[in-house]
Amino acid sequence: MFAHRFLLGLLFLCRAALAHAGDPHADFERDLAVVREVAYVTPKAALRRLDELKAGRDGRELGEVLVVASRAHWWLRDKDRALDTALQAERIGRETHDDVLLARAMLSHAYALSKFVHDQQAARRLIDSAARLADSTQDTHLQTQALVTRGLLAEEDGYTADSLEFVTRAEAVARSGNDPDALAMALRERARLLAGVGSYKEALALADEMIRLARARGIPAQLAYARLAEYATAARAGQPRRAETALQTAVDLLDKLDAKERLPVPLAHLAAMYVQARRYGEAERAARKALRIAREVGDDDAIRLASFQVGIIDICFRNIAAGRATVDKALAGLASDDQYVPMLLQYGHALNQVGEGDVAMTVYEKAGAVSLAAWRKEKQLAYETLQRAVADQKKQNDLAALHHDSILKAAELQNVRRLRSLWALVAAITLAAVVVIALLYRRVAKANKSLQQKNEQLFLQSTRDSLTGLFNRHYFYEQVVPHHHRKAGPASERRAGAEGRTGGVFLLMDVDRFKSINDTLGHGAGDVVLKNVAARLGATLREQDVLVRWGGEEFLAYLPGIGTDEARQVCARVLAAVGGTPIALDDRALTVTISIGFCPKSLKPGDVDPDWEQLVHLADLCLYAAKTGGRNQAVGIADAGGLTPGTIAAADADLHNAAAEGRLALLNARGPVAPPARAAA
Ligand code: GH3
Ligand code: MG
Ligand code: MG
Repeated sequence: MFAHRFLLGLLFLCRAALAHAGDPHADFERDLAVVREVAYVTPKAALRRLDELKAGRDGRELGEVLVVASRAHWWLRDKDRALDTALQAERIGRETHDDVLLARAMLSHAYALSKFVHDQQAARRLIDSAARLADSTQDTHLQTQALVTRGLLAEEDGYTADSLEFVTRAEAVARSGNDPDALAMALRERARLLAGVGSYKEALALADEMIRLARARGIPAQLAYARLAEYATAARAGQPRRAETALQTAVDLLDKLDAKERLPVPLAHLAAMYVQARRYGEAERAARKALRIAREVGDDDAIRLASFQVGIIDICFRNIAAGRATVDKALAGLASDDQYVPMLLQYGHALNQVGEGDVAMTVYEKAGAVSLAAWRKEKQLAYETLQRAVADQKKQNDLAALHHDSILKAAELQNVRRLRSLWALVAAITLAAVVVIALLYRRVAKANKSLQQKNEQLFLQSTRDSLTGLFNRHYFYEQVVPHHHRKAGPASERRAGAEGRTGGVFLLMDVDRFKSINDTLGHGAGDVVLKNVAARLGATLREQDVLVRWGGEEFLAYLPGIGTDEARQVCARVLAAVGGTPIALDDRALTVTISIGFCPKSLKPGDVDPDWEQLVHLADLCLYAAKTGGRNQAVGIADAGGLTPGTIAAADADLHNAAAEGRLALLNARGPVAPPARAAA
């Protein structure tokens, strides 16, 4: 009764204090915050207060009240109302597009789903959505709550590390947002989780901070909550003295607050502590009070816990049969409680104390079996957690390996690219080189060609006579002598000999009385005459015959493959060609004659073979004979076979005499009759 009045008084004070602020909404917010903090400890009183607060409210304010109400119903394990109020709040949040309200309502909805409906997946979805919404707001309490809720869900899924991370983040958010209630919530969960993983010192430090916070806040229910958390933490940390003090203080506070829903369980735990300390009187009072209140509020779990302690105390008071019956009945409903094994041990201990060693033994054995099974289960869970961790690690390693792989591949690719560009460069350089070489080659080829042309030109120039266009003496020496004046093979010699052929005939031709043309008509007319004579000679001779300007007005012809008789006929044709038709000069027509001397080259085997100079010399002797014989005629040696050195010497001395002596035979051809008048002069 006192507690109730205390709480109402406190609320009244708060309201009165806030009334001065003059902002009805701010008043409402503060009242609601207080109710939210007391809802865990005194849910029924909170619900009554919420009913008052709800009157005349709508929209966001109504929604906020409903969210806290849902939580109070949750603490009372009233699943239908908890869900119902959360859904109402959610609807209002959606309708008014109020993200803060909607997120809060979703979190309450998720709590209810998780704890009562056991739809973890739906709960997770709701919590994730709520967390996203919370992140988009500036509400510290909401953000902290979202993170804490995610931490709780992760813990339920067995991800303790993730859970701790969420809760640590929640703590940081609450601190930076300077929200003591949010911080209290985060510290509570973090202390619990840290104690669970053996970080007792840290956990107890957090419990200390929670108590300081609650004292500063001045809400007794919050302090009671903090003390309960301190008790749980100290008990797990193996600090029974601190645990007992915390529990004793919590129970006193709860008692003062008339927190009937919250009182029986801690009271039963306190009774167990008294039993352990053999303070059976106090133990009995606590246990019976716990049982009475638990029955009053209809909390079955609390009833079982309290009656268990009552049974134990009965045993301790040697009321063994009744005590065992009570204990056995209570334990039957607590097999799945995490306190089951410690309770069995307490049971066995009590039995042992009163001399029931055999029964105690069976109880211990049971405790052993259960804890072994629990240990196995825990081991299995630990193994599964380990497997998950290993799988996670492997996944991360794979990702890292993949990353590494991709780096390697990228490097490889870059190398390939580099190599490719290198090759491209080499190819480009090679191509350029080829082009340059080709260009150079073309230039060289062109140069070579022009050089060749020049050479040819030079050769022509050096071998041609510029006036007549005929080959000159130089050409004869270079080209004709080496090719035509050599010994033929025996076969061709025999054939040529049988046919009366020679190795070719040399003709030496000289313009008659040319000096007088120069002298009378001028040097120019002489040149014209020379050109005309040369043209007529060329036109008369065969393709294969070689004709050169021997010098001055003299011409030499080499007629290969003909006999001397043929040569005489050729001479007659040549004489006719030159002397038969007058040459047209500028102002007149001039008949010009020539004289010819010829000499054959022998092909007969065994014949003396004079060299070409001797042959040309013999032709010159014949030419002289033609001149002295009256000009405009040809004189030649008929037989190539008899040209021994002696014959040549005789001819050299006197050709006509040698012929008269029969050392050689001469042939003669006449030019056209009617020699020019000039010739006669
Ligand atoms: P012959 O019948 O005995 O041969 O009497 P010829 O006057 O022809 O004899 P000769 O050898 O004494 O005279 C040749 C002349 O030809 C001498 C020279 O001035 C002239 N001559 C030589 N070469 C050329 C030339 O290229 N052009 C001209 N116009 N005259 C030339
Ligand atoms: Mg001459
Ligand atoms: Mg002459």
